[in-house]
Amino acid sequence: MSLTIWLNGQLVPEEEAKISVFDHGLLYGDGVFEGIRAYNNRVFLLREHLDRLYQGAHCLCLEIPISREEMAAAVVETLRANNLREAYIRLVVTRGKGDLGLDPRKCPQPSVFIIATSIALYPPEVYTDGLRLITCATRRTSPDAFDPAIKSLNYLNNIMGKIETIRAGVPEGIMLDTNGFVSECTGDNIFLVRDNRLITPPTYIGNLDGITRKAVMELALDEGIEGSEELFRMRLVYTADEVFLTGTAAEIVPVVEVDGRKIADGKPGAMTQRLLDRFRTLTETAGEPIFV
Ligand code: PMP
Repeated sequence: MSLTIWLNGQLVPEEEAKISVFDHGLLYGDGVFEGIRAYNNRVFLLREHLDRLYQGAHCLCLEIPISREEMAAAVVETLRANNLREAYIRLVVTRGKGDLGLDPRKCPQPSVFIIATSIALYPPEVYTDGLRLITCATRRTSPDAFDPAIKSLNYLNNIMGKIETIRAGVPEGIMLDTNGFVSECTGDNIFLVRDNRLITPPTYIGNLDGITRKAVMELALDEGIEGSEELFRMRLVYTADEVFLTGTAAEIVPVVEVDGRKIADGKPGAMTQRLLDRFRTLTETAGEPIFV
């Protein structure tokens, strides 16, 4: 069935949702995006996603033509138009139509569109059996070149990593920063559990300041679990008590093997499960209502 897309202020059928071939989002990856989830008739952590979107756009000198409140209303409007209570939402702002040069001043009108679709969930065995990962040879883009904390439309660095994981026959891969420290995965943040403490890489080395990452840190604090942001190399991953990934689509996924090394006993860990249970309770109860 055709989806209804929100495009520059209008709800249009998917077939009519068109963007110019001169849009710099397409020509140069010039733009920002968000992936958001709706659970149980609520948009989860919408404000946090909009903050990241607007902050990223600000860094790119890209002025989003509508306010955060209007954008939040547009997200809800799109979900209603598609009759969705559980959904994956893709919110995209591009530089807009310009000429063939780089100059963003030639793009007077940014394009904004919102796609809401039913979510293709990870199969349940991912949560019970855990994931096998590899370390990608492709290094995460250095923040000296472009800060990966800006969720820009240029995801080729991540796609290069993803191609490696596909060739290796695994669903995700760890990306290191240019100094060899663990940064994140191609589309998820990473956490270790060591001696009942949580460790995740700091965002200043150049990874996405994940919304799920932050939610998990807050849940951990609430559970009395200690945690810290630290630089670490692969040895600490191989010898961790537990490893898990976080992301809007993934939620919290256990990792049981990395580069052929089992993590602990090769089974999802207790702390990962505890945090996942808490996270799922949160997703069912928090957020902006869609249908009232
Ligand atoms: N890192 C990257 C590179 C991502 O694309 C994502 C998905 N947005 C994440 C981490 C997880 O971030 P979030 O929890 O905000 O979805």
